[in-house]
Amino acid sequence: MDNCIFCKIIKKEIPSKKLYEDDEMIAFWDINPQAPHHFLVVPKKHVASVAALEEADDKLAGKILRLGARLAKENNVGDFRVVFNNGPLAGQEVFHMHMHILGGRRLGSFA
Ligand code: 5GP
Ligand code: ZN
Repeated sequence: MDNCIFCKIIKKEIPSKKLYEDDEMIAFWDINPQAPHHFLVVPKKHVASVAALEEADDKLAGKILRLGARLAKENNVGDFRVVFNNGPLAGQEVFHMHMHILGGRRLGSFA
């Protein structure tokens, strides 16, 4: 996708503070962290949102969760919250699916 900021990060056209990369996934620290530890796990395949996942993506969807938990442990995040924003009203700003991992402070309720 030409105008997608996360595709540009994946292609290294925009720098990021990377934690992890393999053939299918990249993880990097959020540029505007909402907690002391806040990183994003992003599939390299451009899927617009969780709602756009297809059956063929089931393996990817499982991998993103397990990878996020592993990276949280490796980076001593401690307890963490997993967030997928889906759609503008839910706060999604980048329309390339990504998983937020937040931790390092007591996280309050969502509202
Ligand atoms: P969303 O609101 O779509 O769920 O989350 C998008 C996230 O991407 C936000 O937390 C925002 O701070 C982060 N973000 C947007 N642009 C960049 C960028 O260029 N680099 C990094 N590292 N994070 C970004
Ligand atoms: Zn993209």
